[in-house]
Amino acid sequence: MAQVIYNSLTAKKEKFVPLKEGEVKLYLCGPTVYDFLHIGNFRGAITFNLIRNWLEFNNNKVTFVYNYTDVDDKIINRANEQGVSTKELSEKYIKEFEKDFNTLGLKKHEHNPRVSDYIPQIIEMIKDILKNGHGYIIGGEVYFSIESFENYGALSKKKLDELEAGQRAEVDVKKKNPFDFVLWKPAKPNEPSWDSPWGKGRPGWHIECSAMVKSILGESIDIHGGGVDLLFPHHENEIAQSESCNCKKYANFWVHNEFINFGAEKMSKSLGNVITCRNFMEKYNGEILKYLFLSAHYRTQMSITDDKLLQTISALSRIYSALALADQTINEVNEEAVLDNGFIKKLESFDNKIKKALNDDFNSAEMISFIFEGVRTFNALGFKNKKKKNAVHKGCSEAFKTWMNKYGKMCALFVDDPNTMLSELDQILIQMRDIDKNKVEELVKKRNEHRENKAWEQADIIRAELEDMGIELFDGNDKGWRVKVNE
Ligand code: AMP
Ligand code: ZN
Repeated sequence: MAQVIYNSLTAKKEKFVPLKEGEVKLYLCGPTVYDFLHIGNFRGAITFNLIRNWLEFNNNKVTFVYNYTDVDDKIINRANEQGVSTKELSEKYIKEFEKDFNTLGLKKHEHNPRVSDYIPQIIEMIKDILKNGHGYIIGGEVYFSIESFENYGALSKKKLDELEAGQRAEVDVKKKNPFDFVLWKPAKPNEPSWDSPWGKGRPGWHIECSAMVKSILGESIDIHGGGVDLLFPHHENEIAQSESCNCKKYANFWVHNEFINFGAEKMSKSLGNVITCRNFMEKYNGEILKYLFLSAHYRTQMSITDDKLLQTISALSRIYSALALADQTINEVNEEAVLDNGFIKKLESFDNKIKKALNDDFNSAEMISFIFEGVRTFNALGFKNKKKKNAVHKGCSEAFKTWMNKYGKMCALFVDDPNTMLSELDQILIQMRDIDKNKVEELVKKRNEHRENKAWEQADIIRAELEDMGIELFDGNDKGWRVKVNE
């Protein structure tokens, strides 16, 4: 069962064979750091976290590079507005990003290069591009000539003549072709700048990734990723620059994740419809974000709606309840655990299905559905309400926990303390459904008093009232309540 990946370059699924057996070089275009990042920006980080973990699970050593763009117009403008240096501003938001990244429990990348640390390498690369006849200089600006690169358009499937026909009127007259792009530009006042053979200036956007890839990973890499919006022109231009400079194929596989939308619109800062990851995690929980994203395939668009959030909370409640039961059973039973081969065989059959799903272009949606099958199978063992649990129940609980932990680690999911997570999910539901917690607790107390006095009828009336409020009661040892979730 080979690993297959959808390659945007060939527009089809292809068997994945790394350049060097057992090693994978992976580069993902990272964020421009001038503000808190929105949850859409995190789809790449969450998706590629699973991709790298899955490749590692299959005995590959992965070197993952995720860059920070810290030289950019947006950063310069924001820094000037706030009266701070671009370095101060970008370092502040890199720290904030890393805080979110760590809260999400994603695996640290091997390298997080900043553009400002790679200026000499960028300059070297531009020199080589010019030497190889792919660039030209006009008034201190260095441009890449797309007509000099035969394969231009191979990734985006755009043809040069169609591009030119579609070009709007305000063409930069300096350029030989309207789609030629800048490699180096002269600095304006109040902008960070560096010395170069073409005068003081700063690099264009696209060259940064080409230079960081080459410096850290080498001339050719296995997988290059990013959001679909980067496919053209950013990635198309990266290919043109790198291949013109190195005369080698740049990236074997191009992997693009689709967008996160709010309703029908793309979530983006310019549309003002963003929710930052920080706000999301404060209002909901990072676990909800990861589960939500991974329950869809990375190449499908996803809209965030209240319904989807409620479904996710419901699914997570089911999963964490099963994990809580497993913990409780392991603690309660003192005897040595006994294995149930039938249960183990079922989990193994899901292992095979998950392997097939992830080998098929990292189909995390299917993976999540088989994890859920595992939860269902565990619940179907039916010992939840048994007063005395036995050694087989303990054996199944241990096997289930180990199994969940394996996929949990891969996805950065299911590793929180189950009871803490269940009560957090309850709190979120209370907020989302606008439930008056004090009133609920008062009613539950009253109902318990009626029950103690054997006033069953009054107790039932209160139960019905609570049910109407969306509250579910459980009358076990803990006389508890929780918000009902539709399953
Ligand atoms: P930027 O900081 O705008 O360069 O974006 C950083 C990364 O987030 C890029 O890979 C973008 O493709 C990606 N991105 C931006 N908006 C969204 C969105 N709404 N959904 C998914 N990915 C996005
Ligand atoms: Zn990039």
